Amino acid sequence: MEKPVEKIAILHCKKSGTVCTGAACFRTFYDRKKSFAQYEGQTVELSAYFDCNGCEADKLADPGFTEKLERMGQEHVDKIHIATCAVHKCPQLDKIKQALDRQHLAWEEGTH
Ligand code: SF4
Repeated sequence: MEKPVEKIAILHCKKSGTVCTGAACFRTFYDRKKSFAQYEGQTVELSAYFDCNGCEADKLADPGFTEKLERMGQEHVDKIHIATCAVHKCPQLDKIKQALDRQHLAWEEGTH
């Protein structure tokens, strides 16, 4: 049987972060709506809310971004939700997914 998800994190777009507080992601998580509806009735810790280090950071080569993902592994985060802002706008989305795969971090697209 698959291990239940106990800890998640949200990876968001740094560019969107100039105008976004993350409130929609957090509200949707606490209300267990949309991408988080799968956790209805479960205790799930939102362990981190972190950005991608910006468009200038190559997601497969940026040491800081790699360090962030390594940290998520050390925290035993079960799944990273790639925030809707990044899913819809990011030209490096495939690289983000590859970087997550490289660190053996489970991920899925979407938050609110
Ligand atoms: S690399 Fe993608 S997710 Fe990151 S700031 Fe640029 S558009 Fe946003």
